[in-house]
Amino acid sequence: MKNYVIVGGGSTGYLLLLGLADAFPDKNITMIDSSKLPSMGVGESVTGTVLEYINRVDGFGKPEFNIDRKRFWKDCKVTFKLGIIYKDWYEKGHTYANPIEDPLFYLPNKHENALQDFYLERLKKKIPIGTSMIFSHLMKSNRVDILRDDQNLLDTTFHMSAIHLDAIALRDYLHEQIKLNYNNVSFVDSTIKDFTQGEDGMVENIHLSSGKKLDCDLVFDCTGFKRLIISKLDGYKFNNTSKELLVNSSIVMPLPYADTKVPCNYTLAQAMSNGWLFKVPGQQRWGTGYNYCSDLISDDEALREYEEVMGLENTSPKKIAYETGYNNESWLENVISVGPSSSFLEPLEATSLHTVICQTLMLTKEILPYMETKEDIIGLREIYNLDCKVMIQDFLNFICAHYKTNRQDSEFWRYYQRPEVYTERTQHLFKLWKHRLPIPADFEFSTSTYYLNRTSLMLWMPVLDGLNLFNKDKYRIVSHYAKKIRDHNSRDYKAMCSDIVEFSLTHNEAIEAMNRGDMIIW
Ligand SMILES: Cc1cc2nc3c(=O)[nH]c(=O)nc-3n(C[C@H](O)[C@H](O)[C@H](O)COP(=O)(O)OP(=O)(O)OC[C@H]3O[C@@H](n4cnc5c(N)ncnc54)[C@H](O)[C@@H]3O)c2cc1C
Repeated sequence: MKNYVIVGGGSTGYLLLLGLADAFPDKNITMIDSSKLPSMGVGESVTGTVLEYINRVDGFGKPEFNIDRKRFWKDCKVTFKLGIIYKDWYEKGHTYANPIEDPLFYLPNKHENALQDFYLERLKKKIPIGTSMIFSHLMKSNRVDILRDDQNLLDTTFHMSAIHLDAIALRDYLHEQIKLNYNNVSFVDSTIKDFTQGEDGMVENIHLSSGKKLDCDLVFDCTGFKRLIISKLDGYKFNNTSKELLVNSSIVMPLPYADTKVPCNYTLAQAMSNGWLFKVPGQQRWGTGYNYCSDLISDDEALREYEEVMGLENTSPKKIAYETGYNNESWLENVISVGPSSSFLEPLEATSLHTVICQTLMLTKEILPYMETKEDIIGLREIYNLDCKVMIQDFLNFICAHYKTNRQDSEFWRYYQRPEVYTERTQHLFKLWKHRLPIPADFEFSTSTYYLNRTSLMLWMPVLDGLNLFNKDKYRIVSHYAKKIRDHNSRDYKAMCSDIVEFSLTHNEAIEAMNRGDMIIW
């Protein structure tokens, strides 16, 4: 099992390549990508995992990857993302925020009910969760979770926010860094025409347009929506999620900033007649687009609606169509699909590159280190397949819940009024939450030991509250901790909030410091 071949050099291929190159110095790792074929070039609002991945450290605090991490920020044109603002979702004119903050991090007494107590206090006082968190205040003032200490030095102790980046720049940065620092990797610029399987079904070599055949022991299919290799194997099955997710098309377009204003520190998701519009703040431009259901609105109508909301005329955005869903088995024979080649739900909540990182870490830490011979494939494949499926079904439930709104103004929104649209699991949770507040255990059903493979209470709470899905008056305090302890947490959180806001860097100051390479965060 010496020859690893990655097929496809978009964001997925490169993020995986970094992990494989570092974890397996004794393997020959080849990336095949065709410069004649485009990569998606979108995927710019990402979760904190991407930053955490780039800056991974081992148990001794030593950086895991041999790359110039100081250049990541400037080269990939990164900005901070402290949350998502949801405009017009619950109903037109209503806005709520989903700050990507784990309040437990700031609570002094992290007892088992601390999180529920935190949320319940807000619900009982009728304070929207999305407006009362530390990140809510940082979002409002366009500041970030990096502080200045008494010596005027930068303090990153409290950092946990996510980022926005330039997708093409990310690919270029990783290409350069991997080429420079890992000598077990080679790059082939060619179009794949076909492949040969052995009698046991394993893919033995990949045929290139040059006529050359490349030997492979393991193939990583990172060809995005094409699913070039995996979809041609016997037994391949795709689980379509169009029943749960109507969005299946996007128009995307970068837009220059109208003035020299500092980028904001959140992604905007604005509900439209048949989907939602996004605005992602890059260092020098917006990434914008409209994700819609092309069965309910034509491409021309979607374009007109996008232009009207954005105040633009005669634009020509790029059109991308996709089928949402996931592979029933993400690993078949010796072909492992990663990223959109294995699943794509829709852009909401940026689960796509997050999934890539989760899959990469599963493979490089939990699966491939134990694979010595072809015989090991069978058992390990089962683990990967189950973990991928459970993860993606959890993400599906989370995304789908965002559409449980009060809107009835189009067939698109009326569709989501039907209970049967939601998976059994989500319907069950909605029923449960009529009686009690969500608890962390509601989201702990993943088989994987890797904690990022699942959603969590902190992600769901602002969304459920923003959509008015709570039965606030019914919820009772069940904490067996004394009121004094609960009050203590609450007081300290408030104090922490004003301290952090006071000593935090502005978004602009933080971007400049990061661009200069003054600090590395995560
Ligand atoms: C509108 C939209 C918005 C999105 N927003 C987000 C977001 O905010 N956050 C997020 O995390 N994700 C987002 N995503 C998903 C994100 O864009 C993808 O996860 C990301 O781009 C990774 O794509 P990829 O590398 O898997 O595929 P691609 O970018 O399509 O790359 C596939 C590669 O395979 C190569 N290839 C294909 N066929 C062949 C062949 N025959 N021979 C050789 N090479 C071949 C191509 O050249 C290409 O480079 C969004 C997606 C869409 C559509």
